[in-house]
Amino acid sequence: MSKHYAVFGHPIAHSLSPRIHAAFARQTGIDLDYRAIDAPHERFQTLLAEFAAAGGAGANVTLPLKEQAAALCVRLSERARRAGAVNTLVRVAEGWEGDNTDGSGLVRDLTGRQGLDLRARRTLLLGAGGAARGVAPALLDAGIGDLFIVNRTPERADALADALGQPGRVHPRYWDDIGELGTFDLIVNATSAGRGNAFPALPVKLLGVRAAAVDLSYGEAAIPFLAWARAAGAHDCIDGLGMLVEQAADSFERWHGVRPETDPVYEALRARDDALVTA
Ligand code: NDP
Repeated sequence: MSKHYAVFGHPIAHSLSPRIHAAFARQTGIDLDYRAIDAPHERFQTLLAEFAAAGGAGANVTLPLKEQAAALCVRLSERARRAGAVNTLVRVAEGWEGDNTDGSGLVRDLTGRQGLDLRARRTLLLGAGGAARGVAPALLDAGIGDLFIVNRTPERADALADALGQPGRVHPRYWDDIGELGTFDLIVNATSAGRGNAFPALPVKLLGVRAAAVDLSYGEAAIPFLAWARAAGAHDCIDGLGMLVEQAADSFERWHGVRPETDPVYEALRARDDALVTA
């Protein structure tokens, strides 16, 4: 009998996760059913309980529910605890156990598929939501240099910096002061500003020589930031499609104990994404 999995988020209609997990299941011969469930904040807890009652064995959680998901877990993995955010839920006897594969997924894509050496890169992280919380500890562990965090709501940047606990290396700053921060070797856009909102203007002088610009979103949502980065002379411009596939593979491995091959799935999605974005 197939096991039930799902991704919860709001909005969720365009999520690629069901397609990715179906491809991993075909590749590994695992029988599973994985669907997308639209869950606004106020309905998430109820919908998750209904999913558990119906035999749900695991779930992914996406925007804007990752911090709420962490609060609903009976146990957190070390990386989910450090992030204060959960993107992977595993059903255990007492309830849900929370993990976070966003950071490992991003670092695997950047250092593997994209061939970047992250060590000592002076890094600017835009955003302090669930995704930023997931990737920040993994970037620090991967050996980046100083990490500056800028968020539209400054209190969330402060809270993330406090949670990361490395005051000499992690620096929350105001968005209005972004032009005074010097140049960066790596800029990661972890805001959802490209999704229909106006993307905030950034100064050109933010990018150092051979800097990499990474947007965690993909498709049309990644266009405003990556267009800015290209125009500003970034050496590498990378969207979040590779991270998406790698974080999904980490979740899949967590649930099924088998690591799927990510390259064929990434290539298929990239061909589809390029066709959609340029159409
Ligand atoms: P959240 O809703 O938790 O956080 C959104 C963040 O974006 C907050 O920091 C918010 O700031 C900021 N933001 C929103 N609108 C604006 C704006 N107009 N100007 C400036 N900042 C803004 O979302 P997530 O962190 O979960 O997701 C963020 C992005 O990362 C999404 O695009 C998502 O698709 C992508 N993502 C990609 C993944 C992948 O695998 N490729 C995995 C996870 C996420 P404030 O705090 O002020 O509200």
